Formats: sequence, structure tokens, C-alpha cells
Amino acid sequence: MKHSFFLSLAIAVIFSITACSGGGESKTEAPKYQLSQLSDAIDPVCKMKLASDDGIAAITEHGGKTYGFCAKGCKTAFEKDPHKYLGDHAH
Ligand SMILES: [Zn+2]
Ligand SMILES: [Zn+2]
Repeated sequence: MKHSFFLSLAIAVIFSITACSGGGESKTEAPKYQLSQLSDAIDPVCKMKLASDDGIAAITEHGGKTYGFCAKGCKTAFEKDPHKYLGDHAH
């Protein structure tokens, strides 16, 4: 019983250390976006599928959803007129 407790404690400590060194140290690098944070893995402007985290150049929120874009230009176009790209949707 005791042994497994300390084992899980050690694992928790290791995980928190890796989490600390893994992120949050961005100095000059652009913020990293993740597919998992997007409501849809499709760029709503050019309809391109965002296949990986690296393919996301920008994100924005609209109507409670998070959209990802392949390029900053797509985000700019989207923000000018979101409903042109989203079509009808409830707010
Ligand atoms: Zn809307
Ligand atoms: Zn695009």
C-alpha cells in the first residue's frame, strides 16, 4: 500500500517537472496552437484541413467556438466578415 502511494507520488512529481520544462518558456517563439483547442480542424476561410499543430498559424474565437487558420491572412479575412465564411449559425 505504502509503496504504491510513493510510486504514484513520484510519477506525479515527474509529470509536473516535465510540464514545467515543456511549455511556458517561449521567449521569441510565436505561441503554439494545438488542434485539440479548436472546435473544427478546418480553416473556415480556405477550407484547408489543419492536419497538425504546426499547420495552425493563427486562431480566433467566434460565437463560442475556436477557429484555426493556416495563415494569418485567413484570420484577417475571417475577422472582417465571419458570417461570410461560417454561414448561418446561432449565437
Ligand atoms: Zn456569428
Ligand atoms: Zn487558410
